[in-house]
Amino acid sequence: MIVIDPPINLCSLLESQNLWPVAIFNTHHHFDHIDGNSALFKKYPHLSIFGGCYDVDRNRIPYATKGLKDGEEICIKNYIVKAYHVPGHTLGHMMYLFTHKTLNIQHIFCGDLLFGAGCGRVLEGSFKEQAPQLLQSLNILKSLDTSIPIWCAHEYTQKNIEFSLSLIPEDIPLQKRQLSLSIPSVPLNLAIEKESNLFLRCDDLYLQDYFKQPDSLSLFCFLRMKRNHY
Ligand SMILES: [Zn+2]
Repeated sequence: MIVIDPPINLCSLLESQNLWPVAIFNTHHHFDHIDGNSALFKKYPHLSIFGGCYDVDRNRIPYATKGLKDGEEICIKNYIVKAYHVPGHTLGHMMYLFTHKTLNIQHIFCGDLLFGAGCGRVLEGSFKEQAPQLLQSLNILKSLDTSIPIWCAHEYTQKNIEFSLSLIPEDIPLQKRQLSLSIPSVPLNLAIEKESNLFLRCDDLYLQDYFKQPDSLSLFCFLRMKRNHY
């Protein structure tokens, strides 16, 4: 099996399920995404451990065996894994697209880039420099096939919908989403995100006008700052 962003207590779970990990992919260096690397590596020293080049070069991914570049593809078991450098939440943040070699199965693991009805916050570098990066990274995710399930790293959907409706209570896609929400909401559906997630709708002229923002980046920064203080 392949593990993404292992938590610290994963070893005992794998043992109890008789699962044998062959690789770890870390999306970024925050402790809640790399905490399990050490225990897993000690128990399964054959493991391949991947992170982004930026983080691996800075020794921020414990026991990393290889840093991946933007656009790089590698084969692991039955999957081709494509790495995307998607900075914004952190400078080295990565997203991984898994494509099964023979079956029609794909999965996106986006770490803290996108959340249900929300997105990650800028936690490294200056907001002024990194907010445009974050928006650009979300646009990369937005351009992927909407049928591919998206596995984000935290379940924040309910709170993000509440936040969004506090800003624009009459928004129909958000109202619909709140009514139909079931937890867990992960994996996320990209079509639903594009329709309802305000952070993915910043190029919507109606919303720019509604929030009195002159362009998509201004609206994105406005929303992100509001969410930081919600
Ligand atoms: Zn993080």
